[in-house]
Amino acid sequence: MKSIELLAPGPMMPLVIDRLGEAFTLHRLWEVADKEAFIREKGEKIRGLLVGGHARIDEAFLKPLPNVEIIANFGVGYDSVDAKHAGEKGIVVTNTPDVLTEEVADTCLGLLLMTVRELPQAERWLRAGNWTGKGPYPLTHTTLRGAKVGIIGLGRIGKAIARRLEAFDVAISYHNRRPVAGVPYAYHASLADLASAVDILVSVAPGGPDTFHMIDADVFRALGPKGIFINIGRGSAVDEPAMVEALKNGTIRSAGLDVFEHEPKVPAELMAMENVVLLPHVGSGTHHTRDLMGGLLVDNVKSWFAGKGPLTPVAETPWPR
Ligand code: NAP
Repeated sequence: MKSIELLAPGPMMPLVIDRLGEAFTLHRLWEVADKEAFIREKGEKIRGLLVGGHARIDEAFLKPLPNVEIIANFGVGYDSVDAKHAGEKGIVVTNTPDVLTEEVADTCLGLLLMTVRELPQAERWLRAGNWTGKGPYPLTHTTLRGAKVGIIGLGRIGKAIARRLEAFDVAISYHNRRPVAGVPYAYHASLADLASAVDILVSVAPGGPDTFHMIDADVFRALGPKGIFINIGRGSAVDEPAMVEALKNGTIRSAGLDVFEHEPKVPAELMAMENVVLLPHVGSGTHHTRDLMGGLLVDNVKSWFAGKGPLTPVAETPWPR
């Protein structure tokens, strides 16, 4: 398969580079000094792209690469790939679903508990010497006892979050575009209705144009002054300035965020707030799970070039066609 040439626009984990580099001719664009010259010279030879959200893979990016057959995305979220355009060009897009579901759900529950019980703030209190100086950390106004939790995006990860939440004995409801069959949770066709019905709103919605800024000032107003917002999905689904404003002026009480609109940039105002818990997009960030994700990406590429089709194609590029 060494005659097949692959291109990675940005750095990928060593497991991916090593395994695919052994089997194929793999070009690391991020190490190339004159990228435009490289694409001009080599573009027509490239048959597969390995991507991980470093670059926007759209019509303009694909134009000088007319022979790409597969775009293998590291991660379940593939909003940096214009999958609709790829589908129109006959290119298959793959992602890495399922293997990260439980890890991300664990992280979400951790973030939710950290935010509701102000655990990072309490830890900072202790480390600052306040326990001995000023006394015990103040009691939190917020608790999971008797709480109503709403999930935006009851898909693979959303359901795994809901399963964990059941153990906390909270009322669970959700918003998707369509109700999910066979789940015991209340469905809200409107996002604002879900927000007004719950105390804690958890987003695990994907990114992309369909969800862009759908969690906006109206949703925060509906969540209300005792409301807590958790985001483990995508930053682009949230109108970030509206969220900052809502946290600043008490429209909502607090937030726990693993994802941001312009990662790795986090608004300075958020960084300075005491009523937010901020994580650097670590939802799936363990060696165990990232290795499984890398392995699935590799298997998709190998399966494709062995003529066996993709293992996990995205909805926009179904297989068989
Ligand atoms: P999934 O199974 O496809 O679930 C996505 C859910 O979102 C579905 O229930 C879908 O239901 C709903 N949805 C999609 N578009 C919507 C819209 N416009 N309005 C309302 N609901 C909408 O995906 P998953 O595997 O659970 O992953 C979900 C997302 O989590 C990924 O796309 C990724 O962005 C994010 N993620 C984050 C991390 C992290 O490290 N923080 C890690 C992994 C994944 P309908 O189709 O019925 O609307």
